[in-house]
Amino acid sequence: MTITDPPQCAADQGAPPYATASGSEAHVLCTHCPGCGYNNFPPSRVCAGCMSLDVEPLRLSRQGTLYSYTTLRSGDQSVYVGYVDLPEKIRLFAELEGYAGGPPAMGSQVELACVRHAPGQARKREPVFVFRHLPGQSHGQ
Ligand SMILES: [Zn+2]
Repeated sequence: MTITDPPQCAADQGAPPYATASGSEAHVLCTHCPGCGYNNFPPSRVCAGCMSLDVEPLRLSRQGTLYSYTTLRSGDQSVYVGYVDLPEKIRLFAELEGYAGGPPAMGSQVELACVRHAPGQARKREPVFVFRHLPGQSHGQ
């Protein structure tokens, strides 16, 4: 599966997809500029660092470090969402899973996954990218 949403601006028509998923394994892509070293996310045909058109697709690390989070509550249900820093200097926002024992700890190590929620849940059955807590690695870096 290749994912090209959200809609791109005219300058980014033809840019590489921003994510791929196979089963529960997900990958997020950016474009890397060899000229200035900047990583553009979402992927773009034009480097935001130096305006070069010489950019190449780069698969981002699947593991990152939890930078910040908040709790969304609805009735008696709570969901954590947060920002995750990847080694390629990209910060992504997504739902967080694997924190049933308590709230996330800043610096937690997490891994990108693709999930499809079960039928009957209020959510759509479309694939959703989440970051899962990596047990035993509650404090990173
Ligand atoms: Zn550049």
